[in-house]
Amino acid sequence: MRGKRVLVTGGAGFLGSWLCEALVEMGAHVTCLDNLSTGSIENIAHLMGKENFSFLKEDVCKSCPEGFDYIVHGASIPSPDDYMRRPVETMLPNSIGLLNCLESARKSDSVLLYMSTSEVYGDADLIPTPEHYWGRVNPIGPRSCYDESKRFGEALCMSYLREYGVDVRIARIFNTYGPRMDLSARYARVIPRFIIQALRNEPITVHGDGRQTRSFCYVSDMVKGLLKLLLSDCKGEVVNLGGEEEISIIELANLIKELTSSSSSIIFLPAREDDPRRRKPDISRAKNLGWRPSVTLRDGLALTIEWFRKKGGFK
Ligand code: UDP
Repeated sequence: MRGKRVLVTGGAGFLGSWLCEALVEMGAHVTCLDNLSTGSIENIAHLMGKENFSFLKEDVCKSCPEGFDYIVHGASIPSPDDYMRRPVETMLPNSIGLLNCLESARKSDSVLLYMSTSEVYGDADLIPTPEHYWGRVNPIGPRSCYDESKRFGEALCMSYLREYGVDVRIARIFNTYGPRMDLSARYARVIPRFIIQALRNEPITVHGDGRQTRSFCYVSDMVKGLLKLLLSDCKGEVVNLGGEEEISIIELANLIKELTSSSSSIIFLPAREDDPRRRKPDISRAKNLGWRPSVTLRDGLALTIEWFRKKGGFK
């Protein structure tokens, strides 16, 4: 990657900032574009000032710069609680923003990696879910702003490949966690939220009966997967990236309680509408590319808890 020009949209977000960091270390010239709607300067502060890193505070829905070897389009609002509050703003980066990125890729002959999501499968009835599964999504439900805009995004990528030959790749990213996840407990994803509740010894809030499952992947594994997909010979491919350890949300709450030695109680809140019951990827395709996650949930959670402890000033 030495000397290659890479654009990362959403590069000041949780996943984007780790990806920028890895690319900078590999010697690429990284441009991070972010409107800071959910990302933060703090996530990239340690990269500022490096000669092969630059930051553009821009909205990719307005325009996308040209002249890159690689474009990774990750700008999006990731948290369900957040995107359900801002549905229109959620749909635009995956449609207009992506269109701008694809036009840039077409003009500059860039490779474009689209950060899609396991949400394209909706409430899947085939578990583990392989890439050929078409999905079971409510097109007008409260999650549709995210699910359907990501599905549109995938279709737009494939259309640019078919009509203009643009070299696109699509990563379907399953639940990912680690340091730098949003600290604000109100809109946070389940892992940061449970960790903060546990560290404060406040009740841990489980939605529904807690038997719904997710398969979590530690951020360093996810970044390696994204790089693998970006740099492999896999034009036009769509690949699941995610953890294989399926765990119920109630088990997760108990595990986080144990790892933080917390005295929190567990309380049950109403289930989220259209909350997928089970989520687990079939990662055979990624394994064929030479990728598989290596950090166990226990180890990854310990690292994440450590970070939250320091960050939040907990003892
Ligand atoms: N969840 C929960 N309590 C919370 C936050 C989330 O029980 O305080 C559940 C949520 O209902 C879902 C799972 O945890 O079943 C994962 O939620 P998250 O918001 O992290 O992302 P999702 O996988 O739904 O996109």
